[in-house]
Amino acid sequence: MPKTIEQLMAAFQLRDLQNLVTAYDWLKQNGRTIEDLRHYLAGKPREMARPAQGAAALWNKKAPRCPRCGAPLLLREINLKPGRGNENGYRSEWHCTNGDCIYEKYDRLTVSEQLNRHGLKNLARSVRRCGKER
Ligand SMILES: [Zn+2]
Repeated sequence: MPKTIEQLMAAFQLRDLQNLVTAYDWLKQNGRTIEDLRHYLAGKPREMARPAQGAAALWNKKAPRCPRCGAPLLLREINLKPGRGNENGYRSEWHCTNGDCIYEKYDRLTVSEQLNRHGLKNLARSVRRCGKER
């Protein structure tokens, strides 16, 4: 049986859906498409694997803790190929969620491997990409 619009949209916050419609209308008014938006998002730097909507509490419980301040860590993908700028071949980076703390730890495991290892796979909303900046 086909799902109703209520069933299909139940996983999203009302505010997110309103923002989506606003963005869609704005794209359309300017002769752009969802594909343009997808392309734009794919090119955004410094983004990260974040807890899915409603999964933040569980993420905070399961995620590795910051060794400096004890706050849960977030995970970021490093998409620079090993070599110049990424001599150690890092694939992911954990960083502290505490805005006052600058802890970060680079690792050769991929984001996907990290999520599996820490039991976070189903909690991550999106794996965004970033370049290593230092
Ligand atoms: Zn910290």
